[in-house]
Amino acid sequence: MKISQRVAGVEYAIRDIALEARKLQNQGKKITYLNIGDPLQYGFQPPDRVKEAMIKAIKEGQNYYASSEGLPELRQAITEKEKAKGLQVLPDDILVTNGVSEGLEMIMASIVEPGDEVLIPGPYYPPYASYVRLFGGKPIEFLVDLHNSTPNLDDIRSKITEKTVAICLISPNNPTGVVFSEKSLRDLIDLANEYDLYVICDEIYDQIVFDEKFTGIGKVSRDSPVILLNGFSKVHLMSGWRIGYIAFNQSPKLDLLRENVPKLSRVRIATNLPVQYAALESLRGPQDYISKFVSELKKRRDYTIKRLNEIPGMSCSNPKGAFYAFPKIENNKYGSDKEFVTELLKATGILTVHGSGFGTQYGTGHFRMVFLPDIPILQQALDQIEDFVT
Ligand code: PLP
Repeated sequence: MKISQRVAGVEYAIRDIALEARKLQNQGKKITYLNIGDPLQYGFQPPDRVKEAMIKAIKEGQNYYASSEGLPELRQAITEKEKAKGLQVLPDDILVTNGVSEGLEMIMASIVEPGDEVLIPGPYYPPYASYVRLFGGKPIEFLVDLHNSTPNLDDIRSKITEKTVAICLISPNNPTGVVFSEKSLRDLIDLANEYDLYVICDEIYDQIVFDEKFTGIGKVSRDSPVILLNGFSKVHLMSGWRIGYIAFNQSPKLDLLRENVPKLSRVRIATNLPVQYAALESLRGPQDYISKFVSELKKRRDYTIKRLNEIPGMSCSNPKGAFYAFPKIENNKYGSDKEFVTELLKATGILTVHGSGFGTQYGTGHFRMVFLPDIPILQQALDQIEDFVT
């Protein structure tokens, strides 16, 4: 029977490639999963007090439909977090969602009409392109210099047309680890204001930075139409619980969205209520588990990038945040990056993601691997990658 063209075009390379690995695993091959950006698959866990907050909520009977916008105490705690980063928000400007993914879908559903164009950083986290396409729009990739972490403003300017409605920023970025400086963010806001564009900014990795202090978009937003997406999957180690939020900056240009997006949150009823209590605890209690997690990741980042750059025919920029390496395959005897990843998987059992899955324009010729496993596992995987390419 017929299906919609919209859904036929949806792709998610990170999980699509895992189907290949599962086939090999079923045939008895040992797979090293370096494809999924989920710290919980590599031994990290939320603190016990966060787990207990969820259990307590369940035992005390908080098992009903929550309010669609989210638990008031959680909206308050999120407001405090985002205000401290500079965004001008009140609790009414926060919508709690089932992860950033749902927030992104709601925002794209609310701003993209067929034929509209949305600027996204190249290479990009795949759902940004998928949701734009799903609502009939066209994702347009803009160039980001991976080595000095700067967006190319001339490239962006040359790609803005009368159909452009929004620019998306992801900082720290998946898959590149690029973190935008305050100056770059200021330039991007000025550019967006010049052309009257929404700014959708994803800060899900906001506390996972290694070299410099993080600057959030809020610091430079003033009264610009900034829609912030954030969540608890990465920094707060709650990926499987599915919780995130949308925060609307106090800008009169967002009044219509502020009025209409909550309709979508009402249609889908609510976010899981016990998880909202856990999220509240994760924001309110001691935060030292985050710095321990990040300092552990920094060691893994340093090791991975050093090793990748020592492999002949491979080069990798230094990710300043998040937990992904995005090496360039300089000497690819396998033709495409997808073939490289597939052959690597077959030969070694190491599962990575082909760079073109993050956009053919700027992702092609690369692959993405997570540096979440501990160093002995990374060492073994990098030894195998080195043997495979040399
Ligand atoms: N945004 C970015 C940039 C991501 O890398 C990811 C997950 O990898 C997500 C959003 C997904 O977030 P969530 O788990 O809150 O849906």
